[in-house]
Amino acid sequence: MTKAAIAPIIVWFRKDLRLADNRALAAAASEASVIPLYIREPMESGNGPLGAAQLWWLHHSIKALSDRLEKQGARLTLRSGEPLDVISALARETGATTIYWNRRYDPSGIATDTALKKGLSDQGLTAESFSGQLLHEPMRLQTTTGGPYRVFTPFWRALESKIGPVAPIDAPEQIAAPKSWPQSDRLDDWSLLPKRPDWAATFTEIWTPGEKGAADRLEDFIDGKVADYKRDRDRPAVDGTSLLSPHLALGEISPAQAWHATERLQGDGVATFRKELAWREFSYHLLFHYPQLPQRNLDRRFDAFPWMNADDAFVRWTRGLTGFPIVDAGMRQLWRHGYMHNRVRMIVASFLIKDLLVDWRKGEAWFRDTLVDADPANNAASWQWVAGCGADAAPFFRVFNPVLQGEKFDPEGAYVKRFVPELQRLSPRYIHRPFEAPEAALEAAGIRLGSTYPEPMVDHAVARDRALAAFRKIKGSAEEQ
Ligand code: FAD
Repeated sequence: MTKAAIAPIIVWFRKDLRLADNRALAAAASEASVIPLYIREPMESGNGPLGAAQLWWLHHSIKALSDRLEKQGARLTLRSGEPLDVISALARETGATTIYWNRRYDPSGIATDTALKKGLSDQGLTAESFSGQLLHEPMRLQTTTGGPYRVFTPFWRALESKIGPVAPIDAPEQIAAPKSWPQSDRLDDWSLLPKRPDWAATFTEIWTPGEKGAADRLEDFIDGKVADYKRDRDRPAVDGTSLLSPHLALGEISPAQAWHATERLQGDGVATFRKELAWREFSYHLLFHYPQLPQRNLDRRFDAFPWMNADDAFVRWTRGLTGFPIVDAGMRQLWRHGYMHNRVRMIVASFLIKDLLVDWRKGEAWFRDTLVDADPANNAASWQWVAGCGADAAPFFRVFNPVLQGEKFDPEGAYVKRFVPELQRLSPRYIHRPFEAPEAALEAAGIRLGSTYPEPMVDHAVARDRALAAFRKIKGSAEEQ
């Protein structure tokens, strides 16, 4: 019997918008004809709520997936609604009795999957899920006492010793078509693109969503940048990191593909890169075991933290108008490219939380809306890490000094100048502290503080003392980096 003669299998794509290393797709393609499906789920369901920047990415990623499937003779069906309703209806229409998908590990994704599996089996349908979003299954990796890890290093050791054998698989050579293709929504009707198209227009300066864009990024990294990654990854002016995060976030590439691309390489760069991939795993491990991670302090003592949450301060931070050049450059890079360098993410997050005393959850939400790589696990775990209330977190009393951080990691001010053009002509000596520049230096650079570029919105030394006093209300002692 040909594959087309057997009942087709529905493959539900979610955060795995790729053909290679896609175990659900590979299994289906080896057994029967395939109906690839993407569901626009309601906001509260498994895929959402995605922020505006990531919806832009999703639009282009779905388009790329659809084009790629078409080259293989397959068609991506787009439907909107509750997954159980959509899949049940599609199964009835097409005669499919089996549904495959790759697992997600965020709380709403898990809840959707659990309910779906039961709902489908109640209807006599077969539902099977596969792994592919992570290198490890969070339920399997446990400490010696049987609980989840809360400290990175032992987690990393356990992960490293267990993941060696998991090799990525190729895209299916053939995907057999069903007897007929179901009707599909039109992608454009989903209105995923932002209402202000000029905002996202600058994203394309650096991004190409889709599986090919992801593969090109990986190749570029492995062929060059990885060798100096350990040194360059902390330099925001240098194009020294993989830029894989938005591709990983929607699964256009799997972590196994990224990991295995480094397999025949050696050196500090590779070791550090693998460790960063492991931080992603650690974040998912935390989210899986602490599903409230995006909403609730892991360290519950922070529930009593006296946040100020001043709206005007928050707005100035979002717009990159704080008067601290490294913070402003980061926030404007975020607006321009839907991305921010990791070092600068730490600096701007510390500034919001500790200099402005704004609750980390407000920063997390802003990042979620504006990052193309917004990720429920990495974002929440990283914000909690900076705030000092997360697992294995930087202590709260370690307050980043935005001037010293800028001078250390962007010594020439090249990063600042790229995103804060009004400081373009200021000398490296003052680029991170324009408020200390003599009048003549400012005038020569065409800067009028308070007019062409803001005065600093806080005195960092005073703000730091205020933060530490607030912190002492929930615990003790101080130190500065
Ligand atoms: P590379 O340096 O090339 O690293 C490779 C991959 O490892 C990344 O793509 C990412 O998947 C993972 N990774 C790297 N650093 C971390 C980290 N600290 N924690 C977890 N995983 C990591 N990352 C996101 O993917 N989505 C987010 O929403 C996100 N929010 C963040 C918020 C804050 C406040 C901070 C401090 C960090 C956040 N990160 C987030 C982590 C990190 O900044 C990005 O993963 C990284 O900058 C992406 O660039 P890259 O792909 O070139 O990274």
